[in-house]
Formats: sequence, structure tokens, C-alpha cells
Amino acid sequence: MSEQHNFDLVVIGGGPGGYVAAIRAAQLGMKVACVDAFKGKDGGKMALGGTCLNVGCIPSKAMLDSSRQFHNLTHMFGDHGITADNAKIDVKTMVGRKDKIVKQFNGGVAGLFKANKVTAFHGFGSLHKGNVVKVKAHDGKDVELKGTNVILAAGSVSIELPFAKYDQKHIVDNIGVLDFESTPKRLGVIGAGVVGLEMGSVWRRLGAEVTILEALPDFLAAADADVAKVAMKEFKKQGLDIKLGCKVSKAEVKKNEVHLTYSDGKDDQKLVVDKLLVAVGRRAATEGLLGEDCGVKLTDRGFIEVDEHCHTGVDGVWAIGDCVRGPMLAHKASEEGIAVAEMIAGLPGHIDFNTVPWVIYTEPELAWVGQTEKQLKEAGIEYKVGTFPFAAIGRAVAMNETAGMVKVIAHAETDRILGMHLVGPNVSELVHEGVVAMEFKGSAEDLARICHAHPTLSEAVHEAALAVDKRAIHKQ
Ligand code: FAD
Repeated sequence: MSEQHNFDLVVIGGGPGGYVAAIRAAQLGMKVACVDAFKGKDGGKMALGGTCLNVGCIPSKAMLDSSRQFHNLTHMFGDHGITADNAKIDVKTMVGRKDKIVKQFNGGVAGLFKANKVTAFHGFGSLHKGNVVKVKAHDGKDVELKGTNVILAAGSVSIELPFAKYDQKHIVDNIGVLDFESTPKRLGVIGAGVVGLEMGSVWRRLGAEVTILEALPDFLAAADADVAKVAMKEFKKQGLDIKLGCKVSKAEVKKNEVHLTYSDGKDDQKLVVDKLLVAVGRRAATEGLLGEDCGVKLTDRGFIEVDEHCHTGVDGVWAIGDCVRGPMLAHKASEEGIAVAEMIAGLPGHIDFNTVPWVIYTEPELAWVGQTEKQLKEAGIEYKVGTFPFAAIGRAVAMNETAGMVKVIAHAETDRILGMHLVGPNVSELVHEGVVAMEFKGSAEDLARICHAHPTLSEAVHEAALAVDKRAIHKQ
């Protein structure tokens, strides 16, 4: 029988949901264990940080940055009088840089665990009756952990299409696409969502011919329609070939190529690529997680069932992050982790889904918070809109990044901000003006009366807020 250890809290999963919950609980005086199964590239050692740090947010942004530098050098710097003949990119060095960043942060999380006295177990955890977590340890030293409380933070994995099984060589998911050894000549992507667009952008900037096949007829249906329209126009200019309403039915690997068959709604079409990224969404990683006797239920979509406080209904068992309902975003997972740790400690934990920001880190970036015009129309809520283009912002012109705009949506009567939608330079940062204003229940007038520094990109937010009341200064 395995050795048993007692903890105030046992967390399964060391991603941004789980590790943040573990640290917050330790800060609040709990004795905490965190079990994580992820094996790092560095000889399979423990690599805390989950999907986000190992094969998600951070490595994708590292590669977006490398590819952006290369693209700017080869395509954008001419206007500044900067030329570099025969500019080249060494993909292995780029991937190595990405791995170094990931490793640095794996060490950072391990350091935070040490500082906060969180005990980490490297292995696969499953939950059983009486809040017992059995750990199948990677070093063979299996243990049982008993938690007064348990948080399930198992995250998610990429959905596999039955006709396009991952071999991580020709047909890849978010893991394989971060580790190509050279730029593929032709990259196919199934799914024009966040992962497809970001990783498609990386390899396009490095010279790949990128074709993105999206089954839905609308581009980025979750985003504001005007923002999505600007983004589509810019992506097309960059050479991303995005085909909407195209359903793939076959993907066969033949002699180092992937042969795709898809329907464009009228006819069957063929596409041949060297690599295929499947990015059609993610599902909760619950395989093997829940012992038959643990009492935790799954929803019909395979997520762990929780109430609005992330409680599973089983005494002392909670679930957070990608493995439960709500947006699959790292910051949402972390906020839930903090809220649950605080609720366990008897504090009023709080999550406001309406002010969770969304970002797509393409060029231009897209970001939004709150509701879209479409959602407000469907809900029968009267609203007014102010927009302002980056083309009329001095700083954006100085940066040569004029595509895009800011849209502020406010309630027709109360003027309270209901949503902010942005597409353009650095909007991943600018969106937080909207988040803060909405958290403080601010109005468009509040934002319009706040002095913004000149010349900055933030002036577009200021002017869009003024435009809600038709008094933008620099708009004809
Ligand atoms: P995860 O990060 O998935 O962590 C779960 C951890 O639990 C993993 O380490 C897993 O190995 C481990 N685990 C699972 N089951 C067990 C078990 N039974 N026993 C032990 N360990 C287990 N989000 C953003 O907000 N911004 C971005 O820019 C962004 N970019 C992304 C880019 C890509 C390519 C991808 C794929 C995702 C991206 N995301 C981004 C989404 C983000 O990564 C997730 O929302 C986030 O990681 C969810 O955190 P989590 O803690 O719930 O789960």
C-alpha cells in the first residue's frame, strides 16, 4: 500500500489555475500539495506551469515575437530607411529561445512553490472517495494524499479529429506546431480560432504558404463584427488564406505530404500541404482523473460539473480553469484558483466573468471585454457606440501601425460601459482600460473625462469614449 500524507489542500494540475490556487492557499496558511503530470522537454523532468507555460500562452508568444521581428526586418523596416540584405531566420535557434523561456518560468514556478512551502508531486493524480488523491508517480514512488479540500485543475487537451490523428510530425496539435525544425513550405490549419490564427501567423511570417480552413461561415463569430472585419482584411493582406464555410472530411499522409479533402459548401476540394495543424478546440482533460467512487460528475460536454463558486457538489471538492465551464483562458483559470483558495479560507472569493478580457495576439491584435453589439441586440438592451480609428492617432502613425480601431459600447440611458472592442497595435494592453472601467461600473463619460497622455495609443480609447457622445475631437 502507498504511503499516505495529509494536507489541508491537494491540487491536481500545476497550470495557471492549479499553481496559482496552491500558492494563494499557502499564503493563507494552508498546508498544500500540488500534483502535476507534465513532463518537460528537458529529459521529462517536472515542468510546472501547465499548458499555458509549456505548450500554450508563453511559447506561442515567444514565437510570435521572433517571427514578428523577422517580418518587420524583411517587410516593414524599409520605410524607416533600414535595410538588411539576405536576412535569414534559423528556426532551430528560434525554437531553442522559446524552450529557454519556458524552462526559465518552469524554474520560476518551482521557486515560488519552495518559497511558499507548497509540496509538488510529479505524477498522475486521480480523485477517490473521502478526498483521497492517488498519485501514480513518474519516479515509481506512488503516494496517497488526503486533502481536507481538493481542487481539480486538470486543464484541457486539443480535440483530435477521427480522420486526422496526431503523429506530431505531419499532423500536429498545439504541441507539435511549436517544434517544427524548419519553416514548412505549405502549412494547412483546420480551425480559424485563436490557436489557428496565432500559429498560422507565426509560420506565415517566416515564409510558409498558410491555408486556414474554417467550418463556420462567419469569421471570429465570438468577436465584435467590425473588429473581426478589420482583422480579416489585414490577415488577407499578410497572405493568410482563410477559407470560411469549409468542412474537412479527410486528411491522409502520403510521402511527406498531407492530402486534405474538404467541402466548400458546393463541391469537394483538395488541398496538399507539408504540415497540418488541427486547432478545432480543446476538451477537458478528465481521462483517468475521477475514480468511480469520487462522486464528481461531468456535464454532457465533458466538463467537470461545478456551481458558480466552482464547487463540485462533493464536500471539499472544487474544480477550476479549462476543465470547467467558461472561457478557456489562463487568467480566468488563475482568478478561479485565487477565488477558490480564498473561499476555502472563509474569505469572499469573487469571479466576474463579464469583465474577463479576451485577446488574440496576431498582427493587428484583437482584444475585447464585455458584450458585443450582437449580444446586446439579442438581449434587447438599448446601447450607444463610439468608435475611433488608429489611423487618426499620432503615435500609431509614428509607429506605422494604423490599421484598426477602438469601439466603446455604453448603455443608452445610464451611459454605463457594456463592452470595449479593439483591433490594432498593443490592444492586448489597452483593453485593460475597459476592464478597469467596467469593474468600477464606470460610464463612457467617466472614461471621456480622464486625461490621457499624448501621444499614446490610449488616446484612441479616450476618443472612442468621447465619440459615444459624438464629441470626439480628432474625428471628422
Ligand atoms: P492547464 O494549463 O492545461 O494545466 C493543467 C495541468 O494539469 C497540466 O500540466 C496537466 O499536465 C496537468 N494534469 C492534467 N490531468 C492531471 C492529472 N490527472 N494528474 C496530474 N496532473 C494532471 N490563454 C490565455 O489566456 N492567453 C493566451 O495567450 C493563450 N494562448 C494559448 C496558446 C495555445 C497554443 C494554447 C493551446 C492555449 C492558449 N491559452 C491561452 C489557453 C491557456 O493555455 C489555458 O486556458 C490555461 O492553460 C488553462 O489553465 P489550467 O490551469 O486550467 O490548465
